[in-house]
Amino acid sequence: MTQARTTVGIAGAGIMGRLLALRLQHAGYQVTLFDRDPIECGSAAAYTAAGMLAPYTELESAESLIYELGQRSLSLWPDIVAQLDAPEVFHSGGSLAVAHGQDAADLEHFNQLLARKLPGEPGIAFLDRQGLAELEPELAPQFGNATFLAAESWVYTDTLMAALADTLQANGALWHSQCEVSELQAKLIVSANGRHHFDWVADCRGLGAAEDLPGLRGVRGEVIEVYAPEVSISRMVRLMHPRYRLYLVPRANHHYLLGATQIESDDTSEISVRSALELLSALYAIHPAFAEARIVATRTNCRPALLDNQPLVRLEEGVLQVNGLYRHGYLLAPAMAERAQQLLDATQSSVKQAI
Ligand SMILES: Cc1cc2nc3c(=O)[nH]c(=O)nc-3n(C[C@H](O)[C@H](O)[C@H](O)COP(=O)(O)OP(=O)(O)OC[C@H]3O[C@@H](n4cnc5c(N)ncnc54)[C@H](O)[C@@H]3O)c2cc1C
Repeated sequence: MTQARTTVGIAGAGIMGRLLALRLQHAGYQVTLFDRDPIECGSAAAYTAAGMLAPYTELESAESLIYELGQRSLSLWPDIVAQLDAPEVFHSGGSLAVAHGQDAADLEHFNQLLARKLPGEPGIAFLDRQGLAELEPELAPQFGNATFLAAESWVYTDTLMAALADTLQANGALWHSQCEVSELQAKLIVSANGRHHFDWVADCRGLGAAEDLPGLRGVRGEVIEVYAPEVSISRMVRLMHPRYRLYLVPRANHHYLLGATQIESDDTSEISVRSALELLSALYAIHPAFAEARIVATRTNCRPALLDNQPLVRLEEGVLQVNGLYRHGYLLAPAMAERAQQLLDATQSSVKQAI
């Protein structure tokens, strides 16, 4: 007689919900997802994100824990991509931190921080103009120095979200889309289409979990996508600046994503004039040929953040909560899913031993 598979109901099918589902499914669990949005689009912060996997660059503003989890995730991403029928989602070209002459001190400060936190790290190269020209010829006229972080990577977010949905469903995941979850308890998810019983329940609702997770807040971010056929930049670029931390992430066919503002507000209304001006000025400063770029889209969303801006994974009263991914959802989700599975596996084996 075959043994029944352990069932897990996951509320929230953003990046965290989908990656947790993939990991648990791969480990033999039967997964069911619930999301208030359609499978292929929606309000998830995951659809607004740039998809940077940049643990080194994030060291500038984040705790070492983010770096460590980010490094772990970077090592897990190849296995994740191998499970999807979409190799084009993952890009491993590295990133370049640059600064204009008047902001050289900001780049120098970043370099010192890297040297202090990661002494002797081989994946960091300090380039002069010629070194930069060898990697990104179109940036060299504007910048005399750059810091190259070879291991940093990025994903095409929309393509990845779609590929995850396809793989999960092809492998037997059940999906309740356009289905609001109103209550989560041990072994029970109450949704718009009824009461659903599972061995385990996971809450991956991002900001949608705010009522059940004290201190969870939204941090507004705005991004702009441009189409620039006259520009060829193949790596992520971080522009060091005294007031903004701006980045450019290449997408397919000369599309680029420019981000992101960071504003303490849960307002998801359209991009403000100030933010658009600041982002676009920075874009023009990275490469003057962006002057003729076409603005394809602007997007706004809120990052789910806890008071300490650290991610949370815990099993409490029978509900697995994974949240607070803040500005690092793509960077951290693989490592968070791994920790979540470890929690479930450990609890299951201790229950079995007790029996
Ligand atoms: C402008 C911007 C840029 C970013 N750039 C990056 C980046 O470059 N790299 C990076 O790593 N991270 C980035 N992030 C952060 C990243 O987007 C988030 O950390 C990540 O999306 C959080 O994942 P999540 O699955 O917890 O939440 P979400 O992605 O928001 O998904 C939550 C899901 O839960 C669903 N849901 C909520 N409530 C309910 C309910 N009651 N019933 C049913 N379904 C529900 C929602 O519909 C949604 O689909 C960025 C974020 C923003 C806003």
